[in-house]
Amino acid sequence: MLSQVPVLSSRQLIILGHASQAPAIAKCTNCELKFFVPKELMKDPDAARAYLLSKFDWHTCKFAAEWVKPLPDRW
Ligand SMILES: [Zn+2]
Repeated sequence: MLSQVPVLSSRQLIILGHASQAPAIAKCTNCELKFFVPKELMKDPDAARAYLLSKFDWHTCKFAAEWVKPLPDRW
């Protein structure tokens, strides 16, 4: 999985808000991208958390994108 690549490991997902028991809004601490849990999942905390984590895993992080950009000019 992409989340195992060391260069991406400094990304962090933080929960910004909850709906009853389940996390509802979260964001990436690097690129500030926000993730919203669909209403259907808000009644299921585990499903909501899993949804956020998978979204987080697959989002294109601007910070990570900087890292994988080829070096300019030199190469
Ligand atoms: Zn990000």
